[in-house]
Amino acid sequence: MSEVIDKVLDLAKRRGIFWLSYEIYGGVAGFYDIGPVGVRIKNRIVELWRKYFVKDNGDFVVEIESPMIGPAKVFEASGHVESFTDPIVECNNCKRIYRADHLIEDILKKSVEGLKPEELTRIIKENNIRCQYCGGELGEVRLFNLLFTTNIGPYTGNLGYIRPETAQGMFTAFKRVYEATRQRLPIGIAQIGKVGRNEISPRQGLIRMREFTIMEIEFFIDPEDNNIENIPLYRFKDTKLNILTASEKEKDGKPQEFKLEESVREKIIIQPWMAYWMAVASSFVKALGINEFYFEEKLPYERAHYSKQTFDQIAVINGIKVEISGHAYRGDYDLSRHMKYSGQDLTIFRKYKEPKMIKKKTVIVNNTKLKDKELRKKIMELLNGKSAEEIEQMIRNNVMIDDKPLSEFINIVEREEKVHGEHFIPHVVEPSFGVERTLFLTILSAYKEKEGRVLLSLPRHLAPYDIAVFPLLEREELIRKSVEIRESLSEKYEVLYDDSGSIGRRYARADEIGIPFAITVDPQTLVDNSVTIRDRDSWKQVRVKIDDLKISLEKLFRGEAFNKIGIEVNDSNE
Ligand code: AMP
Repeated sequence: MSEVIDKVLDLAKRRGIFWLSYEIYGGVAGFYDIGPVGVRIKNRIVELWRKYFVKDNGDFVVEIESPMIGPAKVFEASGHVESFTDPIVECNNCKRIYRADHLIEDILKKSVEGLKPEELTRIIKENNIRCQYCGGELGEVRLFNLLFTTNIGPYTGNLGYIRPETAQGMFTAFKRVYEATRQRLPIGIAQIGKVGRNEISPRQGLIRMREFTIMEIEFFIDPEDNNIENIPLYRFKDTKLNILTASEKEKDGKPQEFKLEESVREKIIIQPWMAYWMAVASSFVKALGINEFYFEEKLPYERAHYSKQTFDQIAVINGIKVEISGHAYRGDYDLSRHMKYSGQDLTIFRKYKEPKMIKKKTVIVNNTKLKDKELRKKIMELLNGKSAEEIEQMIRNNVMIDDKPLSEFINIVEREEKVHGEHFIPHVVEPSFGVERTLFLTILSAYKEKEGRVLLSLPRHLAPYDIAVFPLLEREELIRKSVEIRESLSEKYEVLYDDSGSIGRRYARADEIGIPFAITVDPQTLVDNSVTIRDRDSWKQVRVKIDDLKISLEKLFRGEAFNKIGIEVNDSNE
């Protein structure tokens, strides 16, 4: 499994895609620099995500940015301080620390996700799993919190955390965004930003990092709006979702194909909007060039503390399975918690179609009998914070005040009131992608070897450059012509110009970073004003007139077959 990953890591380092940060100090696990080529691919992935998730849903999705650091209270409210933990186990001998569930999974080849520390300790003991480094005995499994802590400002004790997801920024800003924009549900708040997770054992390049970028949407809905017609599922009417349901998973079953609409109707996906975002995620992942993936439903004990139903989208590349995105139905967990911790009203008003007449109980105080100040105070304290129904029950229970029944001072009357609507807490659906992991999986899936050479067969729209322009030789006339071509194509394309080293080396570099087409200016150019275009994947070359170059490239980027563009010339790899 890791052989191809190692090759990709090697390529990434060699070609400036990404590498371990702080290399000159030996590197720090889980932190990566994204290099000049990597940033270009990453930016294109981010833009593609924006297109699929934000722009194509511009009627109801807006994008914000919020800080990476937040006060402790926010993460107490979100539940992260209490529950954002992973199990760890320490070697009694060499003190090495392992992520307990991963260690067990590596050795026993079965999932133990979400099991309690005691259960993991038992499994370790029963299977005599020992320290992989020194063979020593392992201790008790305990929980480790993954939040990075910091101090906000100069005063000690003003604890802050680095956000482990961007989501809390959207929850805390929900009311502001709602009021400043649509003032209607559904509304999606998108964010792309850096997060920190103090992972126990970061591994495999960009798959498990300690600082990475998340692109996610918190999608706020009215849980009682059950009208599926309001969801643009029709946009994906032919989409089929490959789903490994929780029940199949428990039987060690396989993913099954469901039509999108069927997955909603059969309640395989309990929240229709979550199905919609899973369909969007399917199209997006296909556009990354990753064609094999499925959605795995998490079992109740595997789910995060906030989730009512979760699916991980699992990409399958060369037999390697990695979660590329998470889809969680978070219910009203987040907004209710922030309401409780902030004391602010984060509810939305749902207007009834027709006003309703409702009977409402009201408490009437008999003022004539409550002239005595002390008595009045006593009664008010007793009733403070209680509903009319609760007070009515007290009267029924014959509660006495200064030896007199409460009913002597208080009456409950029922009145009819016209009500126009009610307050409720919106529910939330969340699709969430890690940018660097997506970058890594895109590269892993594009990685090919041909005749002992490496080529990155990226989808054209994700390549770091659209076109490379090379003068065949370091001759001034050829260089001048190449620069001219570079300038004229730069208006429309991202162009890499390179005039150093052998042409073979330059083609190899262009292939390795995934540039779809390379244009070469050679001595013949000076004779008949033609250049060659070389195709990254087939290594075929055609010769076209410079005057036709722009049109030819347009056709190529539109998907026209390479050999239809011009006259084929000899193989080019020397
Ligand atoms: P989660 O909130 O854990 O569902 O994570 C959302 C997405 O972020 C995942 O689907 C991954 O794509 C990505 N992700 C999660 N953890 C990491 C990590 N440690 N390093 C890189 N990407 C991650």
